[in-house]
Amino acid sequence: MEKYLREEIKKLQAYEVIERDFRLKLDANEGIEWMEGLNRYPNDKSDILRGMLAEKLDKDPNEILLGNGSSELIELVMKAYLEAGETVVSFSPCFSMYEIFTIIHKGKYDCYPLENMEKLNIDGFIDFVKEKKAKIVIISNPNNPTGSLIPKEDILKIVESVDAMVILDEAYIEFSDYPQGDQTREFENLIVLRTFSKARGLAGIRLGYMIANKKTIGYINRIRSPYNVNILTQEMGIKALEDDSLTEKNIKLIKDEREKMKEFLREKGIKPLDSQANFLFFPASEELFEALDREDILIRKFGGELEGYYRLTISSLEENDIVKSVIEEVKNATS
Ligand code: PMP
Repeated sequence: MEKYLREEIKKLQAYEVIERDFRLKLDANEGIEWMEGLNRYPNDKSDILRGMLAEKLDKDPNEILLGNGSSELIELVMKAYLEAGETVVSFSPCFSMYEIFTIIHKGKYDCYPLENMEKLNIDGFIDFVKEKKAKIVIISNPNNPTGSLIPKEDILKIVESVDAMVILDEAYIEFSDYPQGDQTREFENLIVLRTFSKARGLAGIRLGYMIANKKTIGYINRIRSPYNVNILTQEMGIKALEDDSLTEKNIKLIKDEREKMKEFLREKGIKPLDSQANFLFFPASEELFEALDREDILIRKFGGELEGYYRLTISSLEENDIVKSVIEEVKNATS
């Protein structure tokens, strides 16, 4: 929505990259080719990849924008909308980079506590956003690190009720039972972010995408650096989209394994929260963490208010079995 844009960005023209057939390309100061076309800048807006995504999502390509991971996209939204001193609101606990990005972009960060670290009181949250006069609201759904999911009707109530841009960060959505589709055509203040880093298993290529209203995508293009997704990433992204079968198989496997791991942990007296993502979040003893650490098995340990909580990524059958055997040993030794 234009009214939320930073004043400078309202007037800024996007830098247009000219892309056309050529005999010789001598307009961009590129070097001489020696490695497989990599002397050239990439296609500026990742047209082929964007077109493929648009088709899969039943969208117009102008409703999609690609980025160097969804991390870059969170920052681009802040660059476009956040004036110095304005507030970004999320809830806690949530993805720690939201606060860091807000500070980098000179904003103030405020968060609303989840009940029992799981449930969001929707009316309370909406009042909080209003009271803080937030310019941007960020919702991680499913939430990292808790794995909890806010139902669609509640998400839409937030989007409808707040006077702010809403980033719906769906990094883990493929692992959830959330209904397909998005409401970015209905709500001009809604921006959905997704990533190739989780369900598609391609964190190494750094690729994320934004789905939003065409106007919003146009505004974000004003502040996006030209050529922000490199040639190699575009190629790998295209390859990934050509065949979804492995991704679908892996999603199913991870969802099954998540439930099995949850059962296993409960049997061992550890109480993970219900998760709709590819990880489990639970309180545990330092001893358990150290036993895993001694085996060079890394799980995420939290500090501060989340001291004593851990987040375990659900992986392949083999890797999950190794984790289980270490936990089994610790529990046998202490019982
Ligand atoms: N959002 C959430 C909730 C995340 O957990 C992460 C990564 N851990 C990201 C965004 C960033 O993902 P990407 O790899 O696409 O930058």
